[in-house]
Amino acid sequence: MKKHNFSAGPAILPASVMQQASEAALNYNNTGLSILEMSHRGKEIVAVMDEAIQSVKDIFNLPENYEVLYLTGGASTQFFMTAMNLLDQGQTAYYADTGAWSKKAYKEGQHFGSIEVIASSEDKNYTYIPKGFTVPGDAAYLHITTNNTIFGTQYKAVPHTESSIVADMSSDIFSREIDATQFDLIYAGAQKNLGPAGTTMVVVNKEILGKVNRAIPTMLDYRTHIGKKSAFNTPPVFPIYVCMLSLRWIKEQGGVAAIEQNNNQKADLLYNALDESSLFKAVVAKEDRSIMNVPFVMETDELNEAFLNVCTEAGISGVKGHRSVGGFRASIYNAMPIDSVKVLVDVIKEFERTNG
Ligand code: PMP
Repeated sequence: MKKHNFSAGPAILPASVMQQASEAALNYNNTGLSILEMSHRGKEIVAVMDEAIQSVKDIFNLPENYEVLYLTGGASTQFFMTAMNLLDQGQTAYYADTGAWSKKAYKEGQHFGSIEVIASSEDKNYTYIPKGFTVPGDAAYLHITTNNTIFGTQYKAVPHTESSIVADMSSDIFSREIDATQFDLIYAGAQKNLGPAGTTMVVVNKEILGKVNRAIPTMLDYRTHIGKKSAFNTPPVFPIYVCMLSLRWIKEQGGVAAIEQNNNQKADLLYNALDESSLFKAVVAKEDRSIMNVPFVMETDELNEAFLNVCTEAGISGVKGHRSVGGFRASIYNAMPIDSVKVLVDVIKEFERTNG
């Protein structure tokens, strides 16, 4: 039986994407070759790379000065690669600390220059998004994590600032409509809303590059990959192919606008059930609740095990909470069908009826 996969990542992908990816692993487009054994310089794979790049440009409606890259090393490599390419000596970059991933981002950035935490929600175990902070005019950039996978918070508005904004969108890329040009650099590990682990998508305004006075190793310089359309070295073709399929799927669904509507419905369904419950509760401040990751708890941990068992029986997987929040977390990414959310809501209600 196919499970209802609420995992935070690697995460659920659209069924049609999985189907096409499995076929491509055996015989790619009737070439008699698996996509796994084809040269990245051959015309088939060049076409995959081109479409994967162009689709992001289309979906985000990017102007000419923006480029799209598929890199390796995970979002974790972007934590320092951003600072290495964008933070010059004598400058300061500002980071909003909204949880474990943003903390890692500024710790890694610190290897390359001066970094200050401009705002933090650590005082309340990251259950809200800090707002109303002012970034100094001479900032190299402001870094934000638009969606906090572990703590389940999400920016509903981009902070107001004149400075460049760098955003980690690993867990909410293409989940809602945004004006991508509000950001000079966006990065997202593929393994939530895009594809399997193994590639990280980057959207960058080319005009901000080449301004730092330091030697950058070739592989870590964004300009290398812009010039070579993400094929300077052997790219992870299969993960990028799956991203390409997901991007096609997004377009087929009616674009990000339609996806967003669907995501809001799923999130409302789950949050309403939690708000109505006397046994379970959502942990995040209402106005900052993520439409992707929904952490929830019970008053005490006594019944946690029992609830997880009931979930398993109902074919629900991946709802055990992250150790820093406890309880449960349901990740409801783009590919999660509303019917799976309904199954979870029914299980929550039934568990409350028998244990509340
Ligand atoms: N940022 C966020 C918001 C994440 O959720 C994750 C991983 N879950 C990362 C960064 C790290 O990504 P990676 O494992 O690709 O390095």
